[in-house]
Amino acid sequence: MRPLIAGNWKMHGTLREAARLAEGVREGVKGADLLVCPPAVHLHPVAVVLLGSPVAVGAQDCHAAAKGAHTGDLSAEMVRDVGATHVILGHSERRANHGETDADVRAKAEAALAAGLIPIVCVGETEAERLAGEAEAVVTKQLAGSLPDGFAAAGGIVAYEPVWAIGTGRTPTEAEVAAIHGTMRQSLVGRFGEKAQGTRLLYGGSVKPGNAAGIFALANVDGALVGGASLVAADFLAIAQAF
Ligand code: PGA
Repeated sequence: MRPLIAGNWKMHGTLREAARLAEGVREGVKGADLLVCPPAVHLHPVAVVLLGSPVAVGAQDCHAAAKGAHTGDLSAEMVRDVGATHVILGHSERRANHGETDADVRAKAEAALAAGLIPIVCVGETEAERLAGEAEAVVTKQLAGSLPDGFAAAGGIVAYEPVWAIGTGRTPTEAEVAAIHGTMRQSLVGRFGEKAQGTRLLYGGSVKPGNAAGIFALANVDGALVGGASLVAADFLAIAQAF
């Protein structure tokens, strides 16, 4: 399976910085499939910079409704219309800051699929849940509740992002990542059948150039969702090269 290295730019940067970062990624891309997910207001200009390059563009969220009275929100159609092909959904920051539930994420993923976007659905346990030995159960439950029917057939992507590893410089051990990714694969195959062997499972949470190769060598790790290190083109490209 071709790996996917996705950059989640979160709420960082000016328009000029976004365009420069996209140019830097465009100039250095080789090998892995790359995706950058800028803030919504930078989606279109970044898509223009990346037009004709192999680097794809994604949004960081979309609404579940196709249109309507939803002040401040963006539909999946709108995101697609300005050049995005992917959308990150259910990131732990949205689950925590906006109260998004598994059912919300599932509805958004359905909307994304209907609009022709590839959803990247994020799951992951908190530190308290890991310490309580509940990581695998939490992730399995989030997957069951957040993924719509037809997800695997439509090329949907899953990102395992332990909440306590995001932006902290801490990561699970390689054995812990391998265990969760193996469990996720099993649960996806159980629900969607053998086609879920081809579902990309990304790891996210403090991925850096220095730890990427070890993580990428693990079974059932098909790429990464990168936050902080995706804001520097050279670091993002170095992570992609580590695959
Ligand atoms: P990080 O963020 O790489 O800065 O830990 C990952 C993410 O939140 O997607």
